Amino acid sequence: MNNMKRDFLLILTLFATLSCTKVTPEKRIETIYNYFDNENTTALSTLETVSNNYPARMSGSQNNSDAIDYFTLILGNDIKVDNIWYQDVTVPHWLPGENSVSCKLSDGTTHGITAVPVGLSVGTDGNDLTANIVEVTSREAFDKANVKGKIVLFNEPMTAENGYGKARWQRTQGAALAGAKGAVAVLVRSMTTLTNDDPHTGSTRYDSTGVQIPAMAISTQAADKLSEELKKDGRLKVTINSTAKRLEDTIGRNLVAEIVGKKTPEHIILLSAHLDSWFNSQGAQDNAASCVTAVEVLRAFKKLKIKPNNTIRILLYQDEECFLSGMKEYAKIAKEKNEEYLFDLEMDSGAGGPKSFRLAEKDIFFPKIKEITDQYLTPYGIEEITQVEERKGWPLSDSMKIPYYGYVSNTDHYFDIHHSSSDNFDKIDPAAFKKGIATVTAFVYLMD
Ligand SMILES: [Zn+2]
Repeated sequence: MNNMKRDFLLILTLFATLSCTKVTPEKRIETIYNYFDNENTTALSTLETVSNNYPARMSGSQNNSDAIDYFTLILGNDIKVDNIWYQDVTVPHWLPGENSVSCKLSDGTTHGITAVPVGLSVGTDGNDLTANIVEVTSREAFDKANVKGKIVLFNEPMTAENGYGKARWQRTQGAALAGAKGAVAVLVRSMTTLTNDDPHTGSTRYDSTGVQIPAMAISTQAADKLSEELKKDGRLKVTINSTAKRLEDTIGRNLVAEIVGKKTPEHIILLSAHLDSWFNSQGAQDNAASCVTAVEVLRAFKKLKIKPNNTIRILLYQDEECFLSGMKEYAKIAKEKNEEYLFDLEMDSGAGGPKSFRLAEKDIFFPKIKEITDQYLTPYGIEEITQVEERKGWPLSDSMKIPYYGYVSNTDHYFDIHHSSSDNFDKIDPAAFKKGIATVTAFVYLMD
């Protein structure tokens, strides 16, 4: 579907939603928020079950597969959606293994360093790897540093101002870059603004240089301490022992489910959320909360007897954390089938309650969507609709020009727990979580 046609469709459907229904949009939206406020208990219990029973849902793992089965049961037996199906996806199969990192000072004293392996990292085959440390706190410093035969400590802090996007290269690129310059391993300061002893993992990529050396994420506290020790004792040594390893790729499943539209069933509104998580937590906010949100939107449409004009489809996909392979596979199939989409609403920002929607393209319909969401959703906490540059590298946008919209939660505390052992159900604020689902439901209702 070309953009003009899609815009025309959106105008038509919005006009239908806002003008021709017996229930006013205000009333309908109030009903949606009330439903999530009062009646709905399934959102929280579903999230609790996924978090507690199927933690560490890494791509290719049994827990990941079991979580898919659990969501299938809910969608089929409880919600009774119209269609459910799977898509097989080739996913990386990586095992974190057993890991230890320790520091030995020149005077012979030793202490442990709290660390977790970085996702996709090679290990040391269970052997001790010992070397001196070179600390770098910026890309420029790294480019100038002599790292040959050393372990590089990437210690550029993530700050509130610069954020995750600025610091992340150290984890995603550090090992490949350092390996190419002759380093033997890397330690990466955790991507968080908190100072504590809880390390944050995440993926690394070797493909920029092809050189594979071990990468461990260390806690911010451990990074500060090691940095202090290095200033006094430049000859200290660090020992890494890790059995992390990547096995042959395996097959995972995308889960797709939908309620078919009554007027224009061939037009799809897609809600997408990745199902995979890291090995060191329940992955409650990243990203079980978004998966449950997608499922509960369908449940709300059924429970509140809202018959959508367009098909409302949800996609719980594999392997966002490393290669986005689940989304790539979905996009490939969508293109083959020549499917028509109004937009894809991607959800991956935790459960901190509604903040904004992000429209990642120069959408001529942006002012209208902004007007409508300002009118109907601002009273419920949506602060702004932001229009950002087209999202590059998003498979559905790249291959089919499907507009990418993002649902954005309040992320004030998201990076305190993101990819760490604290991303568990006990950190979920039930009211904020449910208000977020109500907001996504209301947005979909308004756009339908
Ligand atoms: Zn995520």
